[in-house]
Amino acid sequence: MSPLEQRIRKLEDDLYLARTLVLELTGPELHDLLYPPTDLDTPRAAHAWLTAAMGKVLALAEVLTIEEPLCTSQRAVCPLCRGDANDYNRAGPGYKYPEGLRRHLLGANISTQCPVSKIALDLALESARIHAMYPR
Ligand SMILES: [Zn+2]
Repeated sequence: MSPLEQRIRKLEDDLYLARTLVLELTGPELHDLLYPPTDLDTPRAAHAWLTAAMGKVLALAEVLTIEEPLCTSQRAVCPLCRGDANDYNRAGPGYKYPEGLRRHLLGANISTQCPVSKIALDLALESARIHAMYPR
């Protein structure tokens, strides 16, 4: 292995450790949902897994009811990154629930994807890539 290959290998190992540490920091209730299964064999299967996993995360979100002058709305802080929406018209903490949070978790409809769900997706896509290289 050349010095460059050794360096790349070390960086890949460090990246894997950093990703798994981030997933572990979400806590025992969530982190099991974020590890992709090892049998994902295509990018499409990885994305389908993420959609199902984020549906479970969405169901675990702590939903807040916000009283506004003309209506009542529901919002939830992202259970994975503790993030809030970036919009100017934000009526409270977190994201509009459920659709705003769903879009954040999946990076759908031009929303910036949750950095933690992005890590889970990256691991799933890596698993699918390895599965394609070494089919069982
Ligand atoms: Zn998030």
